[in-house]
Amino acid sequence: MPTSTVEDYLKQILLAQQRAAGKLVPTGQIAAELKVAPGTATAMVKTLADSGLVEHQPYSGARLTDSGRQLALHVLRRHRLVELFLVKVMGMDWSEVHGEAEQLEHVISDRLLVRMDEMLGFPAVDPHGDPIPDASGVVADKQLPTLLACALDASMQIERVADQDAAFLRFLDSQGLTPGSTVVVRGREPAAETVTIEVEERGGQVSLSFAAAAKIMVAALREEGSQQEP
Ligand SMILES: [Zn+2]
Repeated sequence: MPTSTVEDYLKQILLAQQRAAGKLVPTGQIAAELKVAPGTATAMVKTLADSGLVEHQPYSGARLTDSGRQLALHVLRRHRLVELFLVKVMGMDWSEVHGEAEQLEHVISDRLLVRMDEMLGFPAVDPHGDPIPDASGVVADKQLPTLLACALDASMQIERVADQDAAFLRFLDSQGLTPGSTVVVRGREPAAETVTIEVEERGGQVSLSFAAAAKIMVAALREEGSQQEP
């Protein structure tokens, strides 16, 4: 059994690789994300390299090996299933489950995980819209446009929110900006760095900063009448 520290490193490297299309992850970045000293991260990355879990290139960074990636995907699977379980079964708010899952992801047994997966109906995404890797470590990772870059004046469904900050998630909730909601981007103002969004269910408009809009991923909804039967 890898220690929870090892699991945290592997998961963090996997998430960074997903954001950077598989490039080497600088150890400085790993240190910053795990809030440890750069020397600590470098030493740990070397240990992981000795165990065959990462490839380490001094001065440029690290990348997961196949076995490191499998372990990391399994941690991510536990994390995301736990989050969904806490929301769906235990009735917790989506803004408060990330911290709990950070702990539980290291201790949930495979047996419990299988049972949770069953109870939830083998879900594909967690409460934030993040894809849940399946039991064999396969994860769907579709690239989606964000509210900063999607088409204007078109109905979009919120698919995923790439931020776990509790205050930000509560704000999104208060504005109806949660996965599954339908929104239309009405305008972007570069001078003020704001995006104006209409939230379909509520009918009102809300203004988001460019930074906030960039964290919300959407998919175009098909126009009515253009749906094709398979
Ligand atoms: Zn989380």
